[in-house]
Amino acid sequence: MENRSGETIRFGSCYCRAVAFRVTGQPLRVGICHCADCRKTSGSAFSAYAVWPISALEQSGQVSTYGNRSFCVTCGSRVTFVRGDEAEVMLGSLDVVPSDLTPEYELWTGRRENWLHPLPEAQQFEHDRDTAAEPEPPETEQPERIRTLETEVPRPTELVRPA
Ligand SMILES: [Zn+2]
Ligand SMILES: [Zn+2]
Repeated sequence: MENRSGETIRFGSCYCRAVAFRVTGQPLRVGICHCADCRKTSGSAFSAYAVWPISALEQSGQVSTYGNRSFCVTCGSRVTFVRGDEAEVMLGSLDVVPSDLTPEYELWTGRRENWLHPLPEAQQFEHDRDTAAEPEPPETEQPERIRTLETEVPRPTELVRPA
């Protein structure tokens, strides 16, 4: 789906659909992370996500937040992860499957499960990306930073995979 400026709009939601969001425009980057935090918070072997500028994100529904990662208070699904001026969205929370987003890099490859292989096209990092020198931005209160819609995120009657 596109807005009037021709930007792609992607819709996402939690498992119970109480939390919904949309992101406008192309993500800044798409990645996979095998780190301990991503394993624990996803309950899976890795997390796959895309990062948008926070201004691209609009969200509705009640979330709780732990360590900047927010999740639906009802079903517990991870939704968005706000860090500094960026919002990370779990690929699995997007409504159109499969998404048209492909990871460009992998982090913490030493923790990758033995049955997984490096993505051939993806840049490989032993730890975080080469931004390790940057200080971690302070935790911020999400409700003030994420643009909240007055009403629920309007949903297309029929979800169409963006061309
Ligand atoms: Zn939910
Ligand atoms: Zn991680």
